[in-house]
Amino acid sequence: MNLTDTIVAAATGEVQSALGMIRMSGRQATDIISKVFIPLDNKDFKTSAKANRLYYGRIVTAERMVAEKNGTPADSDGIIDECMVSVFKAPHSFTGEDTVEISHHGSLYIRRKILQLLIDNGARTAQRGEFSMRAFLNGKMNLSQTEAVADLINSENSSSHDLALKQLRGSYNEELKLLRQKFLKTASLLELEIDFSAEQEVFIDRKELEENLRSCIQRIESLLKSFKQGNAFKNGIPVAIVGKPNSGKSTLMNALLNDNRSIVSSTEGTTRDTIEEAINVNGIKVRFIDTAGLRNSDNEIEREGIKRSLEAVKKAQTVLYLADASRDDCESIEYQLAFLKQDVDLTGKRLILIVNKDDISNINSQDRKRLEQKDAIFISAAKKKGTDKILKAVTEDYNGEDIAGKVFVTNIRHYECLKKSLDALMIAEQNAQAGMSADIIAYDIRTATDFFGQITGEITNEEVLGSIFSNFCIGK
Ligand code: GDP
Repeated sequence: MNLTDTIVAAATGEVQSALGMIRMSGRQATDIISKVFIPLDNKDFKTSAKANRLYYGRIVTAERMVAEKNGTPADSDGIIDECMVSVFKAPHSFTGEDTVEISHHGSLYIRRKILQLLIDNGARTAQRGEFSMRAFLNGKMNLSQTEAVADLINSENSSSHDLALKQLRGSYNEELKLLRQKFLKTASLLELEIDFSAEQEVFIDRKELEENLRSCIQRIESLLKSFKQGNAFKNGIPVAIVGKPNSGKSTLMNALLNDNRSIVSSTEGTTRDTIEEAINVNGIKVRFIDTAGLRNSDNEIEREGIKRSLEAVKKAQTVLYLADASRDDCESIEYQLAFLKQDVDLTGKRLILIVNKDDISNINSQDRKRLEQKDAIFISAAKKKGTDKILKAVTEDYNGEDIAGKVFVTNIRHYECLKKSLDALMIAEQNAQAGMSADIIAYDIRTATDFFGQITGEITNEEVLGSIFSNFCIGK
């Protein structure tokens, strides 16, 4: 990939629409546009175009351009479209380079024609994410902000939108920067000790060091924890509905979906016959994973059904276990739950017991009390009673207020980097506790800062050095 090329791509989707937008970025952007664009005042666009201005004019073929210059154009020959062209000059653009944006009539033919003209005049088709990558390389955004642009484009509900926007505006990055500074300071103090080892100087009190490490570790642990929540905001909360055949899973699924007119998607799951339906609950996407075909009592089919249930549970973050109040009692429900826990690992998942068919319940009051103590939710899916309690329970950990003041990790790459930095810091902590030498402790701290640097895209080792010299005067 040659980063000195001038790149071009359509910024709007491959659909016919009222308007479309093409973006071109690079050193030759103004030069190339001036070969195909004639502004209303007919001036040479290359010399007349000013930054941060919007120009109305025509995009024309090379032949038309020559004919116009010679004053002999035929009627509308060679006019591709009437467009608005905006001009940005480096470094004041999204990419930090000279950039031109062409707002054209949204025909796919026009779009192809304009792209072709720009390419014929020296632009190259941009690669995936190349505009954002250039923005990053030109220092317009850090890595996590670049990633946030992708999230923003993909956001489909208010919480995922809020998260992407927060990350784009840098609040997430600020948090990481603070953590890095903390690590770098600690590392630099230890580096100093190595330099002054002959004098047996101790620049950082070991108790203080351990406290420093501990607080960093706790902060990363909480960031890692936020991943589950952040991920739920971004991708929705996956909820599996499982239970014995005829307990009312399909009826419940229908009740939940019918009650909510804002069904946002309906896709076939990866597992055969597992169906995902998503709804929006107060701006949070809830993805119900249903296990179809469980109501047959034929053994083989039942076994297949159980297999699918287990698949659904594996994919889920919250598991709704449906019991049947007309047939089950407390003992049989507890037995079913024990059976479920035996078959599938529920670690990290939330299990909610739903007792359905409350309208024809045979559960005695004592059993009911016992089940209620286990936070069971009594509903009647057929009568659509109590489904609101289910939605409340599923989303209660994710209410919108939380988003405002909190920092979330929503990106799996960041999560991995954080996890690796946590591992390194834990080793550093152990080594500090064991009274190991400064260089050994500093090594793991530096490893941790490297992983942080990988998230924000900052170069780390030089910074450790820079941090030593800028924070301390060792001149004498
Ligand atoms: P699934 O096999 O778990 O998907 O169960 P279904 O949703 O197909 O329901 C099995 C049967 O129970 C159907 O005849 C439903 O009409 C009935 N059913 C489901 N929920 C209720 C309920 O709340 N009350 C009553 N009375 N019947 C229900």
